Amino acid sequence: MTQVTEVPTDAADKEKIWAHSGDSHAMEPEDLWTSRLPKRLADRAPRTERGEKYEIVYVDGQQKSRQLNDFMDAIRPPGASDIAIRLRDLDQEGVQCQLAFPSSGFWSVHIHDAELSRAVARAWNEWSLQEVMSWQKRIFTPAIVPLVEVADAAAEVEWAAEQGFQSIFLPCTMPTEKEWGLDLWEPLWAAADSHNMVLAYHIGTGGDTVVYRGPGGAVVNYMETTYPGMRVVSHLVASGALDRHPDLKVLIAEGGAGWVPAIGDRMDEAYRQHGMFVRPRLNRLPSEIVRQQVYASFQHDISAVQIIEDTHYDNVLWGDDYPHLEGTYGHTQETLHQLFDSVDPRIQDRVLRGTFEELFTVPELDEGPTGR
Ligand code: MN
Repeated sequence: MTQVTEVPTDAADKEKIWAHSGDSHAMEPEDLWTSRLPKRLADRAPRTERGEKYEIVYVDGQQKSRQLNDFMDAIRPPGASDIAIRLRDLDQEGVQCQLAFPSSGFWSVHIHDAELSRAVARAWNEWSLQEVMSWQKRIFTPAIVPLVEVADAAAEVEWAAEQGFQSIFLPCTMPTEKEWGLDLWEPLWAAADSHNMVLAYHIGTGGDTVVYRGPGGAVVNYMETTYPGMRVVSHLVASGALDRHPDLKVLIAEGGAGWVPAIGDRMDEAYRQHGMFVRPRLNRLPSEIVRQQVYASFQHDISAVQIIEDTHYDNVLWGDDYPHLEGTYGHTQETLHQLFDSVDPRIQDRVLRGTFEELFTVPELDEGPTGR
């Protein structure tokens, strides 16, 4: 298969569009936890094995298999696992800064043991500080927080804020007894609020990756990763969590953005028409909370841009999803020109730079967009 390394010719003639990416991924080394944790913990930390057809993930005594060998083989950007080379990929693609979510770190959310949860999160965060963020400024990650005990999660936020993290990664799917709208999470919201930590949810996390194997399964399962992001918003809004913390910002990454104003309207309808059942009452309408505090990233969706003009919901940011198959590596400039060439430049600037810079402090770079 041919690897695309050049900007496509039809886009090469056009002016390069520079963008920030609100949805990218760091690729951790396989020995991240085995090299940093004592053996009794490392043995239960996330570990993947490549089988004949399936990738098998072991985590905290659980075994999960997923048909991802083809997917893994499709990760082609030269800098996928090497930050120095990745900076060149970013220059080629026109990406200035990336919020880089975990990859194998996503599996940490399946841990049930509090000590293991703390150790796995801290080791990942220290790896990120040392290997990703200490020597360059363009790629930064959220911190992973241990989610077994909320006090541990809040404590990790305090620590991570001191280290310079600007966001925490949270999974979209949670068991019913730990759903995001429950008051048990209040200490986490209070800690995140007091340190301006963005709650960075990434779709496809916390639940099963394959839920349906019938006709259209590939597309259906892709959609099934999207719905939990919507559920996060409905829980955080309807429960009053975001109403209590009006400065707290929530990012739903990789799930598209066109649905956000729509579910705000949908929640308003419930809040109004079913008002006699609604607990708690909120100080703002659900749609107002959504518009003020919920942000969403997309890669290719034309509607994500169109809705800004029509609904004025503009907490929309683009993401390259580097280095994943769903991402734009190899055709970033082509995608950005297709999305924005006929769009109001103010909307382009908002989606590609302004929204990201509202969520995150973007460092001054040493030498223009290609600096470190
Ligand atoms: Mn992603």
